[in-house]
Amino acid sequence: MSQQPASSTLVEPAAEPAEILRIAERRLLEERGRITQEEALLIQQLPDDQLTHLADLAHRVRVDYCGEEISLGSIISGKTGGCPEDCNFCSQSTTFGTEVAPTGLIPYDQLLAAAKATAETGATEFCIIYAVRGPDERLMEHVLECVRLVRENVPTVEVACSVGLLTQDQADAMAAAGAHRYNHNLEAPRSHFDKICSTHKWEDRRRTCEMVKAAGMELCTGGIIGLGETSEQRIEFAFQLAELEPDEVPMNFLNPRAGTPLGEQELVSPTEAIRTIALFRLIMPAAKLRYAGGREVTLGDLQAMGLKSGINAMITGNYLTTLGRGVNDDLLMLDDLQMPINAISKVM
Ligand code: SF4
Repeated sequence: MSQQPASSTLVEPAAEPAEILRIAERRLLEERGRITQEEALLIQQLPDDQLTHLADLAHRVRVDYCGEEISLGSIISGKTGGCPEDCNFCSQSTTFGTEVAPTGLIPYDQLLAAAKATAETGATEFCIIYAVRGPDERLMEHVLECVRLVRENVPTVEVACSVGLLTQDQADAMAAAGAHRYNHNLEAPRSHFDKICSTHKWEDRRRTCEMVKAAGMELCTGGIIGLGETSEQRIEFAFQLAELEPDEVPMNFLNPRAGTPLGEQELVSPTEAIRTIALFRLIMPAAKLRYAGGREVTLGDLQAMGLKSGINAMITGNYLTTLGRGVNDDLLMLDDLQMPINAISKVM
C-alpha cells in the first residue's frame, strides 16, 4: 500500500470543525496520505459535539486500511514481579511496596495449556511477557524454548514475546526461534518519559524497537495513556510511535495500582479515551490498534464505541496483574457489533 508522506499543513487554525475533519478525510482516504502533527492538534481541539464525527472518520479509516476484521489475542506472564526497573505506573517493580509477589519462570506445561486455551477461543495471537529489564542467558534459553514449544504444539496461534531491552543478537535469536512479533512499548511521550522512569531512557526503548525490526520480527509498540502527560503530549507520542512504523500498537489506559507513585492518578475520561483512540487511528491508519489494559475501568460502557473509533484488535481475558472482562463478554460484544473475528471463533 503506497503511503504519501504528510505534506505541509493544509488546515487553517480558524477552520470550521467540519472542514477540519473533511480535510483529514480527504488526506487519508482519497490521497492515502498522512495528517501532520499540527493538523492532529487541531483535530484534538475539536469540541465534544464533534466527537462522534471524529470517531466515525476514524472507523472508516480503519476499515479502509485494515479491513472489517478484529484480531483477538491473549497474554500470559512468563515471570511476574521482581523487576529492578522503576517505571512508576508498574506494580511489578521491586522499587514500590505493591502486593505483587515475584514468581519464577512459568513451567512449560502451564504455558502450553494457556496457549491451547487461547487457540480454543479463536484468538490468533499469544504473547509471553516477562517482568525484567532484559534477558540474561538463562532467561533467553527459557524464552526460546517457550517459543519453540508453542510453535510446535499450537500452530494456530502466532507467538509474540516481551522480554524488555534487547541486544541485536538476542533479537536475532528470537526471530530465528520463530517469534513472530516482539512487544516493547515506548510507554510514554519522549518529553514525559523522565517523569515515568529513572532506570532507563526512552532512547533505550526506541533502540530495542529498531533492533526488533532489524531482526525481521513484527514490531508491537505502544504505551499507556493517562500517565500525567498533557493531551498535546499524546499527539507527540502517537507521532513518535508512527515514526517506527509499528505493525501493532497496544493502547493501555492507566489503571492505577496501589503502592505505585501513580496509584492515586485520576483516570482518563471515557470521552478523552475515545478521542485519543480516534486520533491514534488517524495518525497510524494502517497499524493494528489493540485494546489492552485499563479499557474496562476507563471506558466502561463506551468499550463498544472504541471498536467503532479505530480499534481493530483486542487483548481478551486477564492482563498481567489485573483482571480483564470475560472472553465471552468480548465475543458477545463483537457479535452485537457484527464485527468478524480474523479466525474461526464462537461464543461459548
Ligand atoms: S521494565 Fe516493565 S516490568 Fe519492569 S518496572 Fe518497567 S514496566 Fe514494569
